[in-house]
Amino acid sequence: MVQVKLAGVTKRFGETVAVKEISFTASPGEFLTLLGPSGCGKTTTLRLIAGFEQPDAGDILFDSRSVLSDPPERRRVGMVFQSYALFPHMSVKQNVVYGLRFRRGIEKRARVQELLEMVDLAGLEQRSPTELSAGQRQRVALARALAPQPRILLLDEPLSALDAKLRESLRTQVHRIQRELALSTIYVTHDQEEALAISDRIVIMNEGAIEQIGTPQEAYERPQTAFVASFIGRTNRLEGKVAAVEQGTVRVQAGDVTFVVSACRTPVTVGDRVALFIKEEHLQLDERGDNVLQARVISLEYHGEATVVHLESPLGSLRIRASYTEISVLSVGEQIKVSFPTDKAILFPDSFGKNRPGTWPNRIGAT
Ligand code: ATP
Repeated sequence: MVQVKLAGVTKRFGETVAVKEISFTASPGEFLTLLGPSGCGKTTTLRLIAGFEQPDAGDILFDSRSVLSDPPERRRVGMVFQSYALFPHMSVKQNVVYGLRFRRGIEKRARVQELLEMVDLAGLEQRSPTELSAGQRQRVALARALAPQPRILLLDEPLSALDAKLRESLRTQVHRIQRELALSTIYVTHDQEEALAISDRIVIMNEGAIEQIGTPQEAYERPQTAFVASFIGRTNRLEGKVAAVEQGTVRVQAGDVTFVVSACRTPVTVGDRVALFIKEEHLQLDERGDNVLQARVISLEYHGEATVVHLESPLGSLRIRASYTEISVLSVGEQIKVSFPTDKAILFPDSFGKNRPGTWPNRIGAT
């Protein structure tokens, strides 16, 4: 088990700063996920760790030793890509054996068998990758990456080409194998649900920089930046202006409505523009919450385990996630009251809104 540490790492491609002074440590055996939107620098970070790219500044250390001068093959890193990268002219077995090309024959046979059993592909040794399903191909790629017993496993969006059901079952399998092998793993995804489900900790990236590092619960329940608050979960975003700062609460004026919220990450003063983030599941279809809004039901979207209610309020559109029983009394076009508790809105200074014309004061909407 290896500790992976990035210290102030920067990587530029010409004018583009793909990665900006990022620092994090993956503990030995940890499942760490890099999560963020397309182009935020996740793959570049992974390629820097693997040794396929060299940083312009900063250091990368495995167990406190800098690996910057080590070529990829000396870093003993296993990598799985979104596109499988299997050899189509080789069988399943030959693809996995390729990962063991520096081992002796007898050892190889036993190891290939062990790996194929681990990824539930025993019996398919002679198949060509073209005769496999997408999920099976990705499991071959995983077996090949694990074959030489890497010290660190790097996975770059390995499930994003698969359908939703397969993604879920394969992510469980990847997680199980990672746990069994106690392998330090860095996983890249833009899928927050996947990141929340399988990670020990998540590194949330935006525009080449780190916004927050924390457990899935911390990222979901205690976002430290406005970006994280809007990126994680399904969130309604409201804009307003600070009307008063009191003991433990902030009063926010948004159009004709005053909200009282308690969760404030950064100090604000009267007159500051702020953004409030309220998760879909924290808006209530009643007026029992501390902050109440009038709204009209626009549509009901049945999702099976929940129903999403689309609403139009004087401040803009809103979405609420509710149970089927809660919405059974609602009808499209109906005027209702919705509310949210003081402690369920997360408040940040509205740095996004400042230069956006026409957004103040009546912009409110699901992000
Ligand atoms: P995605 O989820 O779409 O794969 P990402 O978060 O992995 O995105 P990167 O692939 O790391 O992002 O790219 C970060 C930035 O660096 C992007 O602006 C990208 O265009 C740029 N970039 C990445 N590789 C290169 C390269 N080899 N040459 C030039 N620019 C690059």
